[in-house]
Amino acid sequence: MPDERVDVLVVGSGLCGLTTAVTAARRGLRVLCLGDELPGASLANFGQYHSGAVYAPVLPAVARDCWQHRNRWGDLVQTARVGESTGLALFHATDTVDRYRHAWSEAGIEGVEEVDPRTVGHVTPPAAAFRIPDHSVNLAALRVRLVELAHATGVPTAREAVTLRRAADSTLVSAGWSIPQARVVVLATGAATPGILSRAGIQHTLHVRCIAWGRATGAGTKTLTYWLDGDLLAISPDLNGVRVGLPGLTGMYGTTATEHTRLRVALGQRGFDSLASSLELLWGTVCEPATPHADPSAAVIDLRDPPAGWSPAANLVVALPGKWTTAWHCADRVVDALM
Ligand SMILES: Cc1cc2nc3c(=O)[nH]c(=O)nc-3n(C[C@H](O)[C@H](O)[C@H](O)COP(=O)(O)OP(=O)(O)OC[C@H]3O[C@@H](n4cnc5c(N)ncnc54)[C@H](O)[C@@H]3O)c2cc1C
Repeated sequence: MPDERVDVLVVGSGLCGLTTAVTAARRGLRVLCLGDELPGASLANFGQYHSGAVYAPVLPAVARDCWQHRNRWGDLVQTARVGESTGLALFHATDTVDRYRHAWSEAGIEGVEEVDPRTVGHVTPPAAAFRIPDHSVNLAALRVRLVELAHATGVPTAREAVTLRRAADSTLVSAGWSIPQARVVVLATGAATPGILSRAGIQHTLHVRCIAWGRATGAGTKTLTYWLDGDLLAISPDLNGVRVGLPGLTGMYGTTATEHTRLRVALGQRGFDSLASSLELLWGTVCEPATPHADPSAAVIDLRDPPAGWSPAANLVVALPGKWTTAWHCADRVVDALM
């Protein structure tokens, strides 16, 4: 462990911590990135490299951020690609198509192309089909490339589970005597963030939400495929099968058994019976502010000037990208706050 002082200590080495560390180093700050190396959401998600097309009518600001910041992944994301280089957006009926077309245009998303629904190779052809500039990635490969980039940018990384403490007589947090002193600590610890803050005696408004999803092996699809009306099923190719996502009913998920059934039924309805039979149900976690003060594509909470409901901490910034696709956007906002 290097023992000199740094400008920024980034805690957490998921995609957010690493992009933040690289961004800070590129802007001339001396950075150290420490993570416990446990697999957070960055290694267990749908792996969808979003253009923003699927969010455009419902979350237009997220769609714009996805579109504007996605190219910043550059080669990292191309070398980690799984399956085809473009995705498919399918519609059961044509009544919502114009709403999406309009939203794609409003968000400035380019590269969407209507295709003949009979050519997309589904048992029951959809009513409308579009090629969209989204694809799946292998998350482990992406993270390895990002660690390599961090090292090439001069960011030391080390395996360390960090405990934050807030001094009794000030609002400064420290990360322990064995860890180099830093001017600012950036907490990029995903779903562990509320617990870390609470244990340090720092009041916050974060909450953790659980999301059910599925993983299946067998003959699936090599194309990242979304059904943008109806139940909004998404199938993302992975190295050994597919990841399957289905939004909760009115945003809420049920029990493991009910979610398993919902996913199996949704797959069966699209003719993916072999996937349905090998489906494994998993739970993921997202951490987000309970109050809507933050940009949902990149929540950056600067505790040097805390929003309502947060304790002050004179050297702490919390970073939570809503999507890994927007992690560079989140990193910019953190480093802007530090400069
Ligand atoms: C089911 C699901 C599907 C998703 N699908 C997509 C998608 O397809 N596309 C997309 O763009 N986004 C998607 N997301 C969102 C995306 O996964 C997250 O926004 C992103 O991965 C968050 O990255 P992070 O680095 O903030 O958190 P994490 O990846 O969780 O990283 C935090 C790291 O900090 C570590 N840590 C925790 N405590 C400590 C400590 N005390 N000391 C040191 N290290 C610590 C953790 O172990 C972990 O390694 C999805 C999320 C979920 C839950």
